[in-house]
Amino acid sequence: MKFAKLADYYEKLEATSKRLELVDILSKLFAEAENAEIGKICYLIQGRVAPFYMPVELGMAESMVAQAIAKAYDKTKDEVIKSYRHLGNIGLAAQELAKSHKASANLSVSDVFGGLRKIADLGGEGSVEKKISTLAQILKDLDSVSVKHVVNIPIGTLRLGIGDPTVMDALSLAKTGDKKLRPVIEDAYNKTSDLGYVAEEFFKHGEKGLETVKLIVGKPVRPALAERMPNADEVVKRMGDKFAAEPKFDGFRVQIHLDRSVKAMPLGTAVSELRPGLKLGADSQQVKIFSRNLEDMTHSFPDLAEGVLKEVKAKSVIMEGEAIAYNPQTEEFLPFQETTKRRRKYKIEETAKALPLACFAFDILYLDGKDITSKTEVERRKLLERVVSKNNQVIRIAEHRVISTAKQIHEFFNEAISDGLEGLMIKKLDSPYKAGGRGFHWIKFKRASSGDLTDTVDCVLLGIYTGRGKRTEFGVGGLLVGIYNDKTDEFETISRIGTGLTDEEFRKVNEIGKQLRVEHKPARVKSKIEPSYWVEPEEVLEIYADEITKSPIHTAGWDEKTGTGYALRFPRLVKFREKDKRAEDATTVEELKRLFANQYGKK
Ligand code: AMP
Repeated sequence: MKFAKLADYYEKLEATSKRLELVDILSKLFAEAENAEIGKICYLIQGRVAPFYMPVELGMAESMVAQAIAKAYDKTKDEVIKSYRHLGNIGLAAQELAKSHKASANLSVSDVFGGLRKIADLGGEGSVEKKISTLAQILKDLDSVSVKHVVNIPIGTLRLGIGDPTVMDALSLAKTGDKKLRPVIEDAYNKTSDLGYVAEEFFKHGEKGLETVKLIVGKPVRPALAERMPNADEVVKRMGDKFAAEPKFDGFRVQIHLDRSVKAMPLGTAVSELRPGLKLGADSQQVKIFSRNLEDMTHSFPDLAEGVLKEVKAKSVIMEGEAIAYNPQTEEFLPFQETTKRRRKYKIEETAKALPLACFAFDILYLDGKDITSKTEVERRKLLERVVSKNNQVIRIAEHRVISTAKQIHEFFNEAISDGLEGLMIKKLDSPYKAGGRGFHWIKFKRASSGDLTDTVDCVLLGIYTGRGKRTEFGVGGLLVGIYNDKTDEFETISRIGTGLTDEEFRKVNEIGKQLRVEHKPARVKSKIEPSYWVEPEEVLEIYADEITKSPIHTAGWDEKTGTGYALRFPRLVKFREKDKRAEDATTVEELKRLFANQYGKK
């Protein structure tokens, strides 16, 4: 497929504000593409040249892209920047210049993909110049509409608002004429987190191709998610005679991959590269640590990587745990605000010394060459205990009690709270590991400010109201937030938040707003109200509210009959989730419905 054809589709996708149309347009695009291009197209429509979890970045700032545009069309960088300021968008500026230039070739999707990948791979001395000239050459060989979109890829501003579920629906539709294979596609995606790879297997080998997709050490598994229940009695009813309970640590989730049989896992950052002082030798590349959000964080946690190599008794493993700043002398857990300081990309040494992490392992998914996700919780726990010893210092094992009554839940919950933890995780004993899935195999019990067993809501930032009076100073007077409807893959509004943020938090929202601002309401957002400006749904905020109510202005769980949706009463910000959750991992409409029902059950 010529890239110009793909650019036509970009135009169509950009023009629609309805999700079903996105699915339709995408499925036509997939149907028209060659099998071998499907994967590349999956990455390119999300503005990437690799799956999300791979740290493959083009490494070009806006000014470098401006230089490439100047070079392609014999202009000066200042001329490009002037045009950019005038038109307000670098894509439009490049398109204008390209119009008076005859393209010297007509590149294919694979050519452009290959060129962009080459830019990403360029490093070291002289790479800035090389990146600029490679991009300039790509631009010269493309028509003006293609150019408009391509220049947005290096700077991360190609925003078509296409989520994974939309892509998966479109893949099924393109191949079979309906969406029925979406769950099968999703299953394979959950195991590898690589939609391009899964799409290509599917297009080349059909449904059978998907069945061969297995867990791979080095490719993150989409994590299992927890549900919630209103009280311990309900949990006992749901879980049956016996169930497991573990402390819920308030740190960040890590997925640890270890393969001692390789010199280095493919593509990723070796610990030693970023930590020159550390002498781990070739071993350092045998470990990879992914965040909850599947980001490769290995370089930020050299102490954990070292702990894995020293303490974990396995040849190859994929396991999960919660990393938390921990004082081994006093056996004290540090609060989330402290732990989160470790999620950084600079001054790693210093922070690691000041705030050493311990990882409390709570699950194991893969062991010595075998995918063990289909084994039960009981069986997996046994294997985990074999691999992670009780005497470990860094990679520790989470406490795990098999209990059976509401009273035992309360006792353990109170213990966990007095240890400074967040609450409990209750786990079903006969359940497999559900990659990427919510379900009642895991139930979380958290402490809310009232001390009650209620819970907070994870909302997605959808829009911003610019401030009045004192707030103009921050650029933000209020926030419009929503929750996720996983049936329709849409974000539905649930609340406006105007109070309860500190000055610093308002400033932070302003910074986030500047980065995520978009000109129009994103296609996947369902709203009856208009903020001052919309943002790309990416940032997840944990919100506490007094009550869930019904309101005619919010679209969350919209009920046609009553003309109302759900809303939060007296919402306040608990914390920024610091990118440990993707927008699609926010609280769902279904979960909120249950919270609402439980609230009335109590009254
Ligand atoms: P939440 O983020 O509130 O939806 O709660 C789920 C998160 O709790 C998981 O993603 C983990 O990061 C964290 N967690 C803490 N302790 C445990 C545990 N023992 N088992 C499973 N998850 C845990």
